[in-house]
Amino acid sequence: MKLLVIGCGGVARVAIIKAATSGEFSSVMIASRTESKCISLVEEIKGKSKAELSTATVNAEDVDDLCRVIKGYGPDAVLNVALPYQDLTIMEACLKCGVHYVDTANYECEDTDDPVWRAAYEKRVKEKGFTAYFDYSYQWAMRERFEKAGLCALLGTGFDPGVSQVFCAYAQKHYFDEIETIDILDCNGGDHGYAFATNFNPEINLREVSANGSYIENGKWIETKPLEIKREYDFAGVGRKDMYLLHHEELESLAVNIKGVKRIRFFMTFGESYIRHMNCLQDVGMLSTTPIEFEGREIVPIKFLKALLPDPATLGARTKGKTNIGCIFTGKKDGKDRTLYIYNVCDHEECFKEVGSQAISYTTGVPAMIGALLVANGTWQKSGVYNCEEFDPDPYMELLTKYGLPWTVEEDPVLVD
Ligand code: NDP
Repeated sequence: MKLLVIGCGGVARVAIIKAATSGEFSSVMIASRTESKCISLVEEIKGKSKAELSTATVNAEDVDDLCRVIKGYGPDAVLNVALPYQDLTIMEACLKCGVHYVDTANYECEDTDDPVWRAAYEKRVKEKGFTAYFDYSYQWAMRERFEKAGLCALLGTGFDPGVSQVFCAYAQKHYFDEIETIDILDCNGGDHGYAFATNFNPEINLREVSANGSYIENGKWIETKPLEIKREYDFAGVGRKDMYLLHHEELESLAVNIKGVKRIRFFMTFGESYIRHMNCLQDVGMLSTTPIEFEGREIVPIKFLKALLPDPATLGARTKGKTNIGCIFTGKKDGKDRTLYIYNVCDHEECFKEVGSQAISYTTGVPAMIGALLVANGTWQKSGVYNCEEFDPDPYMELLTKYGLPWTVEEDPVLVD
């Protein structure tokens, strides 16, 4: 099997190393904007790779350029671990070239001032009731075209989205007749020693955290102000942490696919220093995506900020501590109440020892590779556009353990109020 990976950042690095060393792929091509980064990764890992490795330069915003690379290589699947801005062009190219598509994050428009995008956005905010800049509508709208082409598009196979939804499908399949509530808890107990840094792409991360929060109750979106709802939780392997309710993309698909669910929420932990810095940057306009004139040239404040912040790919060497990401379920089994927690604990230093990355890249890159593998080998291959909870979770759960993300099922956990 041949895998084409697009992007060569923090998440891609882990997915590429795992794919190359798995013995499942005969060859892996890395195509990204800056080919030199792809070449140095190949140099670094070629000694331990079981797959033939090659590189290419590609502009993932240009369908023709993508087709040039895809047709030249002929992969069984394309794994998009570039940025959410490029999801639609890469999907378009996969349709044109007749190849399966896999990604880790739903489409976001880079230019939120674009009038055509704005009009569609305002309409969706009115109709659906959540103001996040990203949603699944653009990718779900391609469902029929993928069906007709006999191709599979697997969306959002990172940890959350991704494994969080596989945990939901697993709980539904093995533990519940009816799931009533889902709380997805994402805890990063890692310390990198910087006053402020983001652990994946700063632009995507800061846009997500500084936006309004939201959750789903009885089929309706309820919005909160940014970071308005705060709880404390005692995480296995990490300890007590403050966590905040955020909008998160998998809420949208879980609300459709987990029948009868009454409430779905997403919480992420943040330290006090992170929030103080983020609020300050927001207040002075540094999180803006709208270009400004500066000394005769145009700059986008959040892109300039990204250039100043530590590259998330370099945090691995300095990060200590663990992550704990999972889902707490309440519901019914055989007429009785049941509560369950499925989670993974991952150690930053162990990840660094194994692949030279911190645990956030690891917990995203491993599931990205697993999703690509299951699509490429036909285990998770249906024509159309799908989210992770729409497939049989069992093979995915097995591969999580095999590739370094073992999970725990705990009955009667402490619930979040
Ligand atoms: P990085 O910024 O580290 O890497 C992005 C890569 O994409 C870089 O190699 C970049 O190239 C490349 N790229 C950007 N634009 C283009 C373009 N136009 N053409 C070709 N290549 C391009 O991001 P991360 O690794 O942190 O994140 C990757 C993805 O993973 C994102 O979509 C993110 O949202 C997602 N993610 C998902 C999570 C989950 O749990 N589901 C968690 C964390 C992240 P260059 O090197 O030139 O900059």
